[in-house]
Amino acid sequence: MDILNAKMAVHGFSFRLKGATRRIVNPDWSTSVVQRFEWIPKLREGEYKTLNVFTVMRPLSYDGLPIGGDATYPEPPEGQAAALPIDGVRLDQKMLNPIKQQKYSVENALVHEVGHWLNLLHTFEFGCSEFGDWIEDTNWEAEASETCDFSKNTCPDRPANQTVGDPVNNLMDYAIYDKSCGKPFEFTDGQRYVQGNKVSSSW
Ligand SMILES: [Zn+2]
Repeated sequence: MDILNAKMAVHGFSFRLKGATRRIVNPDWSTSVVQRFEWIPKLREGEYKTLNVFTVMRPLSYDGLPIGGDATYPEPPEGQAAALPIDGVRLDQKMLNPIKQQKYSVENALVHEVGHWLNLLHTFEFGCSEFGDWIEDTNWEAEASETCDFSKNTCPDRPANQTVGDPVNNLMDYAIYDKSCGKPFEFTDGQRYVQGNKVSSSW
């Protein structure tokens, strides 16, 4: 909660802890995207505006690749009833480990997943295509970044990319663990607008 509020306050969002941490030991839960459908409905609480964060002990993966967490997107209003049971964020508990945090900015994983939960796509979501990530003020990106390499420019033909390249320090890219990033990790105004829009229109 402290991590989330510390990181999101600058973007105008705050979260209040409503409840409780329960430790649930079930070795069959929490490893794949598919299993989210099996166990999250048994555990999640509250309405759409209640952020449920599940930390899990076993590594998460997607398409066979390790991931720090995952999240549901808000559904359009007509779909909300169906989506509510699985709504929430899953996080590999290593992402909150203070020892890991000394070396990597793993706590950004939580902010990134909450960004998805508030309707943000990855900055590289649709690559250099016209839509990019559907946010006007984030630069285009053909692929995810692994480090804050500010010389990276994978969509040089996009006018916005001609002065500054890929948005490698954006919280919705993948370089977010890079402790030696030269600039703070950020959401843009456009991303803040989209997130605020979920808060004001979906709930
Ligand atoms: Zn993501």
